[in-house]
Amino acid sequence: MIADHEVPQPDEVTEGWWAATRQRRLVLQHCGDCGRNQHPPRAVCTACGSTAGLGWRDAAGTGTVDSCTVVELAPSPNFEPPYVVARVRLAEGPVVLTNVVDADPYDVRIGDAVSLRWRELPDGRALPVFRPASEESKPRE
Ligand code: ZN
Repeated sequence: MIADHEVPQPDEVTEGWWAATRQRRLVLQHCGDCGRNQHPPRAVCTACGSTAGLGWRDAAGTGTVDSCTVVELAPSPNFEPPYVVARVRLAEGPVVLTNVVDADPYDVRIGDAVSLRWRELPDGRALPVFRPASEESKPRE
């Protein structure tokens, strides 16, 4: 399991995002002034520069693999290679840097449809990860 110290602690910009993960909700920063969604959370809207209009909206939890690679050398003993690091483009537009799980790492392809899963952290937060949408119809093992 990933240790707490390997995941950033919430700060004033990200605390709302982390709080949502405790409820297993993936949220995106939404700008009420220009209507754009962004991720990761920032202090300002990258589209219009607004600081006052930013709030949170739930993401559907679906997307497609935008780019991916297989990691074969773990950065710490808490990681079990090989595993997939991927950029997933969410249905709402923003991109999330994440892992694709529940798949043979060497079978993951750009363009694959994926859906949200959670990786628990020891402190109750969770990290959004994704699995191939084609796995949805298969029985759980
Ligand atoms: Zn904006």
